[in-house]
Amino acid sequence: MAQLSDDCFAFGGALMSVDAALAALRERLVPLTGVETVPLRAAVGRILAEDLIAPIDLPPFANSAVDGYAVRHADLAPDTDTVLPVTGRVPAGGALGRPLRAGEAIRIFTGAPMPEGADTVMMQEDAEVLPDGRVRLPPGLKRGANARAAGEDVPKGTVALARGTMLRPQDVGMAAALGFAALPVRRRLRVAVFSTGDELAEPGTALAPEQVFDSNRFTLQAALARLGFAVSDLGILPDRREAVARALAAAGETHDLILTSGGVSTGEEDHVKAAVESAGRLDFWRLAIKPGRPVALGRIGRAAFAGLPGNPAAVVVTFVHVAKPLALLLAGAVPKPPLRFPVRSAFRYRKKAGRREYVRVSVAAAEDGVLEARNYPREGAGLISSLTRTDGLVELAETRTDLVPGETVAFIPWSEIL
Ligand code: AMP
Ligand code: MG
Repeated sequence: MAQLSDDCFAFGGALMSVDAALAALRERLVPLTGVETVPLRAAVGRILAEDLIAPIDLPPFANSAVDGYAVRHADLAPDTDTVLPVTGRVPAGGALGRPLRAGEAIRIFTGAPMPEGADTVMMQEDAEVLPDGRVRLPPGLKRGANARAAGEDVPKGTVALARGTMLRPQDVGMAAALGFAALPVRRRLRVAVFSTGDELAEPGTALAPEQVFDSNRFTLQAALARLGFAVSDLGILPDRREAVARALAAAGETHDLILTSGGVSTGEEDHVKAAVESAGRLDFWRLAIKPGRPVALGRIGRAAFAGLPGNPAAVVVTFVHVAKPLALLLAGAVPKPPLRFPVRSAFRYRKKAGRREYVRVSVAAAEDGVLEARNYPREGAGLISSLTRTDGLVELAETRTDLVPGETVAFIPWSEIL
């Protein structure tokens, strides 16, 4: 199986843009997961391991797109009505069994194969059946109208679904349409999630006066589970180097990725850094991003390691922009940049150039109907309500300085990223 290179996370300590970080990850990371075959029914959410090449044309044969009358376009008068005898009938799943002859119309239904020689279909709503059984077809129909050509959707031999696609319901439907009963997908990425900090208590236990309940671990596990990964909950680690090192080394034996939050700044109470260094190798990536302090990336045994900051809003932003793409790459997926929607800013924001900033916002239509983003009234990276009472993030590019109301900004809804 593939393995990470020793220096895959080595990065000279310079301030790095988010895009440069992603490019570096894309260049250095190899998928850690093998390939397995799963039935279509179990394929949604899995990552396609190989390009899916269409083994047949889609649609497999030329067919009618409507209920109507199949004709030869050459038989239709360009400027007046054409009256033709109806000499056959083809329902979906049927066949005419002979070529169309000049000067006839064939009753045809949606999905039925076009008779050989027919190239155009008149919709039944536009045709008039005469008392003698013939049809009157008005002029103006284009050649090829209401007919679907073989292979017009996906031609045989072309890539129908690209390797690395995280399969959505419509992708599974495409595979079915091409006749696949099972698909080669990547084995699920095994991710271990820890929290660190002596102040953390497990939800459901009694809270000591100096404690807060651990929330990051649950946010991260929920997000990872949605990505289809096999998530191990490894609990809360105390602020003691040996304990953290031992737990990390053990997790490194059986996981592809270890994700932690807290304890990675360089304060004397930040024990994760020392523990990873003793159990493996650690590099700090100084990302030009706010919120989000340095993100620690490294290796422990065969596993990749990502140490996120402790503050809940910083966890979410660094997860979305660093840890999630990293996990997807390790899992064999091709991370897709989130869609950004232009909205009008209803707020003022002070910003220096050189750093990308994410502002938590709510979005609603203003009186003139334009979508308008309003920032959460308080800014702290520790505010969990700033994640639950907002609709997503406004992204302010590195090049931007102060923002004033009325400007257009890029909005990323939570549904695109979490
Ligand atoms: P640290 O990065 O360890 O210095 O933590 C920064 C802040 O985030 C502190 O206020 C911590 O209490 C808080 N924090 C760290 N980990 C968690 C967690 N798992 N859940 C909730 N808050 C946390
Ligand atoms: Mg801590």
